[in-house]
Amino acid sequence: MVVANQKGGVGKTTTTVNLATALAAGGLRVLVIDVDPQGNASTALGVDHEPGTPGTYEVLLEEAPIAKHVVKSDEAPNLWVLPATIDLAGSEIQLVSVVSRETRLRRAVEELQQQYDVDYVLFDCPPSLGLLTLNALVAAKELILPIQCEYYALEGVTQLMNTIRMVVSEVNNELELTTVLMTMFDRRTNLSQEVVEEVRKHFPDITLSTVIPRSVRIAEAPSYNQSVITYDPRSAGSRAYIEAAKEIAQRGAKETP
Ligand code: ADP
Ligand code: MG
Repeated sequence: MVVANQKGGVGKTTTTVNLATALAAGGLRVLVIDVDPQGNASTALGVDHEPGTPGTYEVLLEEAPIAKHVVKSDEAPNLWVLPATIDLAGSEIQLVSVVSRETRLRRAVEELQQQYDVDYVLFDCPPSLGLLTLNALVAAKELILPIQCEYYALEGVTQLMNTIRMVVSEVNNELELTTVLMTMFDRRTNLSQEVVEEVRKHFPDITLSTVIPRSVRIAEAPSYNQSVITYDPRSAGSRAYIEAAKEIAQRGAKETP
């Protein structure tokens, strides 16, 4: 599953980290591939990502196998991370001259899946539609679109949908926008409610019934190198992400005979 939205600050990383932890805590085998040079998902999952740490960069540019560089996260059993470092920032340009530049990640994931049983691979994308995000879109089957309960929530969605249409017709006909998750919902404001209604109208079948509340605990957790699920398991934010993961896993279970 790829968590993408070219807008920054909408909750991509938070969603990746907490869905991954919730799915793994539920007994599934989960791999997070950090595709953002900021490495925020690596940080939040307590995984080292200082410059020079091998990870996504080596997989993309040196065709290293994923299994060689994955690191176990302490957030849940069966949760692994392929870390991203700031070195990945240069790869957007380095990749341009590389053969099969948009399918590098897909090949690496396919190779991994031949050897290991992984239930979910989650990609955390940077806030752009460049070659890094493209690699993730080409490697994934499902797209999760986090939308922040804010003004202009749907701004940029048309552009993302056009990119997806292009990816589907040119390189990855399995990719499908399957999930919209509303984040940073503030129950005290009419705006949040209005935005949720607007998004549900736009994506009636795929918007999860769970909405993620705006919560200080969610925002604090990464500074302790934790998901909110371990940081404060009983908080509203933790429960919401667990519910969202359940919706996703149940739907996944339906599709697999
Ligand atoms: P993105 O990856 O799309 O840039 P992030 O997941 O990093 O977005 O979130 C942006 C900022 O908002 C971060 O500081 C994060 O901690 C905070 N944040 C995300 N979701 C919530 C939430 N539900 N409640 C409060 N703060 C949140
Ligand atoms: Mg992010």
